[in-house]
Amino acid sequence: MAETPFSATYAEARTKFLDAANAAGASLSTYTHPERGPDGGELATDVAWIGPADAAGVLVLVSGTHGVEGHCGSGAQVDWLRRGEAARRAANVSVMLVHAINPYGFAWSRRVTHENVDLNRNFIDFTRPLPENPAYDQLAAAAKPLTWTEEARAQSRAILLAYAREHGFPALIQAMSGGQYRHADGIFYGGVGETWSRRTLTSIFRERLSAAGHIGFIDYHTGLGPEGYAEQIVSAMPDTGEYRRAATWHGLAVASQSGGESVSAKLAGDWLDAAPGLLSHAEVTAIALEYGTVESGKVLEALRADNWLHAHGDPLSPEGQAIKAQVRDAFYVDTDVWRGMVLGQSLIAVRQALAGLARATG
Ligand SMILES: [Zn+2]
Repeated sequence: MAETPFSATYAEARTKFLDAANAAGASLSTYTHPERGPDGGELATDVAWIGPADAAGVLVLVSGTHGVEGHCGSGAQVDWLRRGEAARRAANVSVMLVHAINPYGFAWSRRVTHENVDLNRNFIDFTRPLPENPAYDQLAAAAKPLTWTEEARAQSRAILLAYAREHGFPALIQAMSGGQYRHADGIFYGGVGETWSRRTLTSIFRERLSAAGHIGFIDYHTGLGPEGYAEQIVSAMPDTGEYRRAATWHGLAVASQSGGESVSAKLAGDWLDAAPGLLSHAEVTAIALEYGTVESGKVLEALRADNWLHAHGDPLSPEGQAIKAQVRDAFYVDTDVWRGMVLGQSLIAVRQALAGLARATG
């Protein structure tokens, strides 16, 4: 039996991805990141391409948009490569695998980029006024207390729970995770300019996807919803052609984030939403696969701990290591059942997308 496609670290994941891509006959290119990993190792986004460069249809599989969530997406990509699934693509359809678009976050067990930015809040137009989030402004001090003692945690949690009691738990989640552009050291921060990961993804699109008339995207995420279940999230509204295509390819369980059907908060600046504008020459059909892990309270607590650690603590200390393990556990369930569910649902989604592209280009 082959070793597991999943990895305990970014460095291990990168090696497995490059090995599997080479074995599958993919052509590879690398975009080196300016920072290093906690082990001092190089960080990079690696891109594997299978099929003709000028294919009419391209399926793009992206892992690590949210750094640490790359444990899931990388495993799914490596498994897909190892299974020889590439043989299922139609002759005029290519597959591009983008491994670790936020390699810093993957390596450091963080959801954010090295700019402390949530990449899926960063794809906004920075020449326009920044979105406002007054509810986050009100809760910013509680979201990230100055110390991370038992007492500070309990106090800040009480403030957040009081807000949830008054406005409902979904309102708390919307306030915390909807995105904010005012608190650079806070959580779900969208930044004040384009991050390295945004610029890199945009370059990859420009360099590779200009010839394709039909482009499918699957972006791998974890941390929301029932354990092991992958919600298929569409950024587009339910009454759009993009949504209808996604439902035709993937089935009626697709959930619109903008339409309020999804486990995700409504948000601005996710790259799947921006992709059709960046690729206006093509018909874009995009889903995020959002795999559930642990309950939302635990996920939020892990993100607050990580946020405090990188603002006020020492990431390489024993306390820092414990928080990193807490973050990993919030976004990656270390059981065979969960990993099996990840791979099975990913395989279905990729086969569906390849079938959709074959119909669109045939
Ligand atoms: Zn995510």
